[in-house]
Amino acid sequence: MLLIKNGRVLDPSSRTDAKLDVLLEGERIAKVAPEIQAPAAEEFDAAGLVVAPGFIDLHCHLREPGMENSETIETGTRAAARGGFTAVCPMPNTRPVNDNASVTRAILERAQAASSVRVWPIGAASAGSNGEALAEIAAMKQAGIVGVSDDGRPIATAKLLRQVMDYCRSLDLPVIDHCEDASLFAGAVMREGVQSVRLGLHGMPAAAESIAVARDIQMAELTGARLHIAHLSTRASLELVRTAKQKGLAVTCEITPHHFTLTDEDVRYDSHYKMNPPLGSREDREALLAGLADGTVDAIATDHAPHEPALKDVEFDHAPFGVTGFETALALGLEQLVHSGRISLLRLAELFTTGPARVLGRSRRIAAGEPADLSIFSTDHAWTFHASDSASRSRNTPFDGRSFRGAPMATVVAGRLVWRRERTPSAL
Ligand SMILES: [Zn+2]
Ligand SMILES: [Zn+2]
Repeated sequence: MLLIKNGRVLDPSSRTDAKLDVLLEGERIAKVAPEIQAPAAEEFDAAGLVVAPGFIDLHCHLREPGMENSETIETGTRAAARGGFTAVCPMPNTRPVNDNASVTRAILERAQAASSVRVWPIGAASAGSNGEALAEIAAMKQAGIVGVSDDGRPIATAKLLRQVMDYCRSLDLPVIDHCEDASLFAGAVMREGVQSVRLGLHGMPAAAESIAVARDIQMAELTGARLHIAHLSTRASLELVRTAKQKGLAVTCEITPHHFTLTDEDVRYDSHYKMNPPLGSREDREALLAGLADGTVDAIATDHAPHEPALKDVEFDHAPFGVTGFETALALGLEQLVHSGRISLLRLAELFTTGPARVLGRSRRIAAGEPADLSIFSTDHAWTFHASDSASRSRNTPFDGRSFRGAPMATVVAGRLVWRRERTPSAL
């Protein structure tokens, strides 16, 4: 038994924001009430801290199997726990690709043995994510995938997307797409604009994303499937999602912390600013912030994409795309969204909990009988993120050395405290 005392319980599902105790018994929440007495229970004093439902990251790369020099399920999920995440959804672009049930099972077995948080894999949409034949979606669903995607690249053609959507509709799985027009993307390393010209780097226009988003939304309308837009990054894409939602289509989207924090003006000759989709314009960022505030955006997702230093420490043009993200996501959300006055703390909690749960067709609540997954965080703990102290095997972040106000403090999965912050100045 674990008794979490004196915390500010924040539950977006019931719009609860109150000082309550939470008693956990086994893997479930036993009781939520003021002043619970449970002499036999281990106590966690959450005075001054927020107790939220367990954070879910809809989008990450754990690199196992196949790229263990960059990350493993063990190191990646340890970083996730330190970011407050209690469940993470790894994308299928491992080696081999997670395109059949035996790979799905191997990932889940490894997670069972090595992960402190829940691992909910995403299966590939097409075999090898090659954009030709369908992957073994039904068998992977049986094995435990929670969605499908060819992330790293878009689902190649409208015809294939239609097949994937027909399948996923009958299996009640979301189709998650990395939206990008391949012909406009070709060779690009950042967003096309004044800054790409200034740096002499090959850029892709914002339309490369929104053209694909428009295609996908029309296919969702045609098939009735649930469509989730991964790492949405442009104003035009957001506008398309907003209109689709107004029409009642089952379309959702996620935004990464780096896209709501940085813009293409921040890009320099440093591969820690190279990610796909690339950082957008100032106008894009403003639109994303508005979408986070008005409810158009369903989830904050990290797209945690670790790459070992040997891969990233090369010329900008040659470096792989992607940045790490688990350990800085909440702090960036607090900095950019809550402390800046753009959204409420309850809305931020929604973007990390009930929002992503809804994309997966699940619920997330702090109530008796629910799974005992909780994220406990501070809104004002002062700390500095040092990539060298990260639990991830990789160091590719543009936020190394950044100081924050607010941080994850403890992570509870299935009734167990899987991580808690040491309260020392140099922690994390
Ligand atoms: Zn992607
Ligand atoms: Zn990704």
